[in-house]
Amino acid sequence: APFLEARDVRVTIGGTPILHGADLSASAGELVAVVGPNGAGKSTLARAAAGLQSIAGGTVTWNGEDVKRLRGRALARTRAFVPQRARVPDGVTVLEAVRIGRSPHVRPLQRLVAADHEAVDRAMERAGVAAFAGRQLATLSGGELQRVQIAVGLAQETPVLIADEPTSALDLGATAGLARLLRDLVEHHGMAVVLVVHDLALAAAVADTVVVVSEGRTVATGPPADVLTSERLAEVWHVDAALDAT
Ligand code: ADP
Ligand code: MG
Ligand code: MG
Repeated sequence: APFLEARDVRVTIGGTPILHGADLSASAGELVAVVGPNGAGKSTLARAAAGLQSIAGGTVTWNGEDVKRLRGRALARTRAFVPQRARVPDGVTVLEAVRIGRSPHVRPLQRLVAADHEAVDRAMERAGVAAFAGRQLATLSGGELQRVQIAVGLAQETPVLIADEPTSALDLGATAGLARLLRDLVEHHGMAVVLVVHDLALAAAVADTVVVVSEGRTVATGPPADVLTSERLAEVWHVDAALDAT
């Protein structure tokens, strides 16, 4: 059974229905790419799957347990969530931010032991941010900040990583590096990774499974070779062109 399973998820925000029947599942050792046009509901689905969005219908379960039952540290130890837009608190350095990522494993807070420092160093190393560990977040470029967010997530050492468009500000080299890192997480560390991604070529290159979201629904799920060549996908992306032609 999949580790993470979101079924028929419905979300309404401020009286407006945003998701009306979205599905997403991810197993250990599986990388699932979520694709779809702007405004389709990808971020909302990712947040719901991460237990960060209250849902009006459907279910989100991890290992069969309702995500609503997980709170605080238990939630933070189960999944890392890398948001589409990073928060940049004043005066916080890269190292401090990544240590905060480690905090679900540390008690009392800030009393890191050797194993925690090692996890923090390893996360910074793997995300390629060790060289600027002492810099303040506010001074970083968009791409550097995205890699810091990945490092924060890696330091959490969770079985699930959910990342919302983590490559949108990365250059080609950094994108390739992140793609390799994510493949390593699923292939050698047995993680379940959910990657919201705008770039279909990247989805094709890294994903085991592609989920297509359109207008608040999951409209296709399957291996990239099937989904990315399906008529359904073409329909989803050609809505604007079709409207222009009428
Ligand atoms: P995507 O990530 O696919 O671009 P989102 O999940 O961010 O889509 O948004 C889906 C739809 O929900 C969009 O029309 C967006 O404007 C709307 N939406 C998202 N969050 C909110 C919110 N907090 N309040 C109102 N509308 C929202
Ligand atoms: Mg968007
Ligand atoms: Mg989004």
